Amino acid sequence: MNYLYTLILVLAMNSMAFGQARYVMVIHGGAGTILKENMTPDQERAFREALTQALQAGYSQLQAGKSSLDAVEAAILVMEDNPLFNAGKGAVFTHEGKNELDAAVMWGPTQAAGAIAGVTTIRNPIKAARAVMEQSEHVMLTGRGAEVFAASKGLEIVEPSYFWTESRWKALERVLRRDSLKTQLDHDGNNQSSNIALTNDYKYGTVGAVALDKAGRLAAGTSTGGMTNKQYGRIGDAPIIGAGTYANQRVAISCTGWGEFFIRGIAAYDVAAQMEYGNTPVVQAASAVIEKIGKMGGDGGMIALDSAGNMAMPFNTAGMYRGAVTESGEIEIAIYK
Ligand code: ASP
Repeated sequence: MNYLYTLILVLAMNSMAFGQARYVMVIHGGAGTILKENMTPDQERAFREALTQALQAGYSQLQAGKSSLDAVEAAILVMEDNPLFNAGKGAVFTHEGKNELDAAVMWGPTQAAGAIAGVTTIRNPIKAARAVMEQSEHVMLTGRGAEVFAASKGLEIVEPSYFWTESRWKALERVLRRDSLKTQLDHDGNNQSSNIALTNDYKYGTVGAVALDKAGRLAAGTSTGGMTNKQYGRIGDAPIIGAGTYANQRVAISCTGWGEFFIRGIAAYDVAAQMEYGNTPVVQAASAVIEKIGKMGGDGGMIALDSAGNMAMPFNTAGMYRGAVTESGEIEIAIYK
C-alpha cells in the first residue's frame, strides 16, 4: 500500500514538475558554432522571429486538433521557405555548387515513415517525405525517382536555382579556399575536399520538429541541405530513419549536426531504445547519445519529446537554434549554450 502511495506521489510530482502539457511542439534550426559575439542583433532577431513563426504555425495545427504530423510539417515548411535555414531555400551547396536536399518524417503511433534524399527540384522536401510515407509503398526514395514521384503527387517542382542564396554560395567559396590552402600544405596529392570541409567548424542549420498532439500522438520530421562542400550524392542522417529522425509511441526525435556520426551512432533510435529497454527518462537518454556522438568525434544536437510532453534539447556545439511551445501557447526560444 505504501508503495502505491509513493508511486502516485512520484507520478503527481513528475507531472507538476514538467507542467501538464497536453500538446507540445519542439523545433530546431540547426546546431553549430553559433556564438553571440559573431551575431549582430539584427541577425539574432531574424532567427528568433523565424523560429517563432515556425512554432506558431505548428501550434495552430495542434490547437485546432490536427495531428502532430500536421504540426511538424507546418513548422518545417516555414523554415524550409526561410533562407536563414539550411533546408529548402537557403540550403548549403555541394562541392560542385549544387543543392541536394534530404528530409524525413515519422509517425509515432504506427511507426510509418517516409524520406527523400538527394533531390534538387522539390520545393518543399518535407512534403515529399510525407507523400512517400502516405502515398507510396516505400520508406525512402532518392534523386530523380523521388522527384518524379513528388511531381506525380502534385507537389511543387522548381528550378534548382530556386535554392540558391548568396550567403550559402559564399560559405562554399570560403570552404573551397581553405580546402585549396590545406591541399597545398599537405602536398600529399590526396584532395579529399569533403573531408576537409566537414572537419571545419561551422553552422550546420538543418531544421527539425517533434510534436505531441491532443490525442497523445507523437511525430518527428527533419529537413536539410546537408553539409557545405559535401560530395555529390552524399546522404546525411536526416532522411535515415533511426539516425536523424525517429518516432514511436513513446518518443519523437530530430537530430542536427555532423551526419556521418549520427548515422554511425544510430542516434535517434538510441534515445528510443534507452527509453524502451532501460526505462531511461528522455532527458538522460538524449544527453547520453549526444555525449556518445562527442566521444566518437562528432558534434551536433537533437530535440526529443516523450509522450508525457517532457522535452530534451541537448547539443555539444556552441549553440543550437531551438524553441518550444506548450499548450498555453507560451513560446520559448534559445540559441546559445
Ligand atoms: N545533419 C545534417 C547532415 O549531416 C547537417 C545538419 O544538421 O545541419 O546532413
